[in-house]
Amino acid sequence: MTLLDGKKTSEVIQDEIAAEVAQIKANGGKTPHLAAVLVGNDGGSVTYVNNKVLTCERIGFGSSLIRYEDTVTEEELLNKIKELNEDEGVDGFIVQLPLPKHINSNKVIEAIDPKKDVDGFHPTNVGRMVAGLPAYLPATPAGILELLKRYNIETLGKHCVVIGRSNIVGTPMSILMSKCSYPGESTVTICHRNTVNLAHHTRQADILIVAVGKPGLVTADMVKEGAVVIDVGTTRVPDASRKSGFRLRGDVDFENVAEKCSYITPVPGGVGPLTIAMLMMNTLKAAKKEVYS
Ligand code: NAP
Repeated sequence: MTLLDGKKTSEVIQDEIAAEVAQIKANGGKTPHLAAVLVGNDGGSVTYVNNKVLTCERIGFGSSLIRYEDTVTEEELLNKIKELNEDEGVDGFIVQLPLPKHINSNKVIEAIDPKKDVDGFHPTNVGRMVAGLPAYLPATPAGILELLKRYNIETLGKHCVVIGRSNIVGTPMSILMSKCSYPGESTVTICHRNTVNLAHHTRQADILIVAVGKPGLVTADMVKEGAVVIDVGTTRVPDASRKSGFRLRGDVDFENVAEKCSYITPVPGGVGPLTIAMLMMNTLKAAKKEVYS
């Protein structure tokens, strides 16, 4: 079994981006700039956004963090998005999800200029991805593709089973794995809450991608011998031995499943670090006007 080391891979990608940014700056080019909008004080969201800002600093990007209390109105948020759309200093920006219930997330996402939508959530980018046109790919599925690529994992003709159909992970992942490019060319099954006999499907997977948020959902008896298992799940579970009081758990029963796999991602240190690296990659593409010229 080979461990798919997302942390190390993410560091390599970030070093590559940092080298390119240094070159851009040395040639007198503009420093790429990522802005992040954070609403409220949810512990997970605060950590994710802080990590994104720190990563920007580490690789030489400019960054700005715009924070609002969770009482912010939809109108105020939409005005800020309009401002960021028009700000030539900002190459790309994200609005950290989830948003409070009184704000319509779809309306917020659709207000972002697709050219600056480095999260790849705007319907224009989703549509372009489906059509095989240049687009910002959502960071988590893009990170998984990058991991498969950097470990030279064969995907052509393989049966890929994706559990979860969210707009940010499961659905784009299933589409990308079926595309006629590498990594892709797989036959894809997508499973969700109403899938009957989940184990029947997962046992047929050469590549199993799990994005649910239910610790331990995938047990060893659900996995085929030699499968590649990608665990996207990250759930905070109480852990009194940790200073933070919690630890992260994936959707896969790692200890027992790992023995059967050819490759597997750990949690933490698997998909998570790649998500940030791919957001930075999208921001670099935005600065270079690589997706929309
Ligand atoms: P989500 O929007 O809640 O979607 C979860 C999906 O799992 C839904 O499609 C749901 O089906 C399906 N599901 C729920 N219970 C199931 C069951 N028992 N059997 C089969 N399918 C089931 O979650 P998400 O945003 O995609 O995130 C999924 C997990 O990945 C979470 O733990 C999240 O924290 C993590 N995540 C990690 C990263 C990272 O960077 N590592 C990034 C994003 C998300 P229905 O559609 O039928 O409800």
